[in-house]
Amino acid sequence: MGRVNSTAAQVVAANLQALLELDTMVVEPWPEPAQALVAARGQYDAGIILRELATPQGGPLRLGLMGKDLCVAFLTYVLGESQLGGRAAVMSLHRLSEGEGGGRAPRHVMLERAAKVGLHEIAHVLGLEHCRTAGCLMRFSAGLATLDRLNMGFCPACQRDLIRLRMDLPTKAPAR
Ligand SMILES: [Zn+2]
Ligand SMILES: [Zn+2]
Repeated sequence: MGRVNSTAAQVVAANLQALLELDTMVVEPWPEPAQALVAARGQYDAGIILRELATPQGGPLRLGLMGKDLCVAFLTYVLGESQLGGRAAVMSLHRLSEGEGGGRAPRHVMLERAAKVGLHEIAHVLGLEHCRTAGCLMRFSAGLATLDRLNMGFCPACQRDLIRLRMDLPTKAPAR
């Protein structure tokens, strides 16, 4: 939504495909969601964007990518936000390039962070809640330091839940 790093979009999609076995497609960019801009904060309201992204039952799940910063009413910022067991998630790349001590993180670090946030948020959309297992992608991360300590994958218990939750998704039409 708006100007977004297209490599990051491809990397997020590829990881959703590889780790969650979801059929993914990167679509043409949507306009920046002007109605979600919180002018006083210079950020975008994640809740408003989620309502815009959500598709009717049976439609595809959607993950919105933003270059701009996201917030929710009671937090200074969020890296991502999702509808638990719903239809949509949104994530921001805005803070993912931050390095230690105010520098910039290497590009591969930014891309890895983006993949982690995308997987975490879409797992919420599938119905998975937070997990306390060390390193599991479903651990809550308050910021980049905790995000960087997560594995690029789910613990065995979350993995089992994901297999069950994926079976509840509508399957694609059989190939003719
Ligand atoms: Zn979460
Ligand atoms: Zn877990």
